[in-house]
Amino acid sequence: MSAPAEHERPAMAAPRANAYRDTWAAGAVDRTVGDEIVVSGWAHRRRDHGGLVFIDLRDRSGLLQVVFHPEHSAGAHELAGSLRAEDVVSVRGKLVERSEATVNPNLPTGGLELQAAELTILARSETPPFEVDDDGHVDESLRLKHRYLDLRRGTITPNIELRHRVMQTMRRVLNERDFLEVETPNLTRPTPEGARDYIVPSRVKPGSWYALPQSPQLFKQLLMMGGLERYYQIARCFRDEDLRADRQPEFTQLDLEMSFVEEEDVIEVTEAVLQAVLAEAGIEVTVPFERMCYDEAMGRFGSDAPDLRYGLEIVNLDDIFAASEFKVFQGALSGGGTVRAINAGPRGLSRAELDELTEFVRGHGAGGLVWAFVEQGGGWRSPVAKFLTDEERSAAASRAGASEGDLLLAVADADAHTAATSLGALRKHLAARFGLVPENEHRLVWVVKFPMYEFNTDEQRWDPLHHPFTAPEGDLDDPENLMSRAYDIVMDGWEIGGGSIRINTVEVQHKILDTIGIDEAEAGERFGFLLEALKYGAPPHGGLALGLDRLVALLAGADSIRDAIAFPKSATGADPLTGAPAAVDERQVRDLHIVSTAPPPRQEPVTGAAGGEEG
Ligand code: ASP
Repeated sequence: MSAPAEHERPAMAAPRANAYRDTWAAGAVDRTVGDEIVVSGWAHRRRDHGGLVFIDLRDRSGLLQVVFHPEHSAGAHELAGSLRAEDVVSVRGKLVERSEATVNPNLPTGGLELQAAELTILARSETPPFEVDDDGHVDESLRLKHRYLDLRRGTITPNIELRHRVMQTMRRVLNERDFLEVETPNLTRPTPEGARDYIVPSRVKPGSWYALPQSPQLFKQLLMMGGLERYYQIARCFRDEDLRADRQPEFTQLDLEMSFVEEEDVIEVTEAVLQAVLAEAGIEVTVPFERMCYDEAMGRFGSDAPDLRYGLEIVNLDDIFAASEFKVFQGALSGGGTVRAINAGPRGLSRAELDELTEFVRGHGAGGLVWAFVEQGGGWRSPVAKFLTDEERSAAASRAGASEGDLLLAVADADAHTAATSLGALRKHLAARFGLVPENEHRLVWVVKFPMYEFNTDEQRWDPLHHPFTAPEGDLDDPENLMSRAYDIVMDGWEIGGGSIRINTVEVQHKILDTIGIDEAEAGERFGFLLEALKYGAPPHGGLALGLDRLVALLAGADSIRDAIAFPKSATGADPLTGAPAAVDERQVRDLHIVSTAPPPRQEPVTGAAGGEEG
């Protein structure tokens, strides 16, 4: 599977001719040389050269060079002399071919220019806080504060256009399959997706609160109980989670649900959607996608969202070191744990660099990292070499496929999950560091056969691995071995979506809630409406949600999901443009019957001087 370096931007249809324009800037290529045309947009760049004034006029479609000639129109030429970057203009003139020497091969309209007869300045611009015509790096908080200027640059708008096409494609594929697009409420009760809720106080019912939905999960299930059979929504979801670089407090999902279906039905529809969506970005994929069991993903890649585009697979060395005298290995294995390793390949890392890797895995919960360079004849250059037998060393190297010069990196831990995930993180880290991730290659894989629960050691209870409405598979009284009917879809090491077949009887639903520590009283209090609905004949149903922001960012090759969202929040959850979150009027708070214990926040001015810090 391969992608072109940049997705195609479809041409825009000719606009209705009015006083401002009859042609898009990039649409000049479809007009005849010699035509009189009218274009409008921003003065992208101005150059004065040999008594002439040139501007690149920019609109959403692209750029068109305009030349102002004192002999063709003295008035327009003089006015053009006063143009500054980002002034808004309308130009009437004659479309001409550029002389051969001045053709710009990098611009679709580079063979043409507009010989201005008339210039109207529609609005003046002050000097912008950053240069719109500069593709170079601009501080992100400054870009977000002036997002409307950022959107004028060539970097974000193509992503927004792609996002639009992705959404239209999702709708098209699902509409063709009898799905109904249905909106569900934003002011609702908490939906348990495992994060904190954003809550909204009620003015008319003092002391009561709405929650913004973490997902439409319960409503889409109710739609199935309502007999709607096939539902989708491009839904905004809200989760008040701890800050992480690439996490947005509000985000968008393609959410869907179907009745009387098995896993295969949901998977098939999702593959059709993704295949069509990827095609929009010029990426061809074949269906069905690969599948991998959760256990295999964790074992080989140390992650439930494995990136299959490169090797560095994890190997299990438990049997090899079962009788080892080496205390670290012995301790891990006798505690029910594991010893696992990655062959990092021929890497001449220094001691300091190896220490950094050790710190890295520690940061992911591992106790430490064992490193060894395989030497000629099978010996190891490693601080632990002396504690191991020749047989152990050579068996471990051969299991990892390591030969002379290769670097082996091993983690031993009493907790198998920690060993797996810390090596999984190390694997990603090494791949990025050594440039092993192929560009323009994409791998999609379904991860299936998840356990129903994971044990929460802090709270000493079972937590659902997905959400508690996921249908179980197996013996309900054996939480440790109970499996779920969940599936995740992973692209290039990112979980871009997930879903499940759901529980459709009230008895099973109570049993699952009970196992995760939600008794009948609490269940009734929190989701009584769902439990009630389950009593009146719920069809077997299932569905999934795809994360739109991440998907578009991946398809656009964007570094951050913020580049795939028109008005994203900053990494601190703030909106530098509007200054949200912000204080509100004291009276507003009083009307809501709320008493704040926090001191009033210091307010940053929202308008005015450029370069404000994100707050
Ligand atoms: N509601 C789930 C989520 O938001 C997706 C699903 O199970 O359909 O992750």
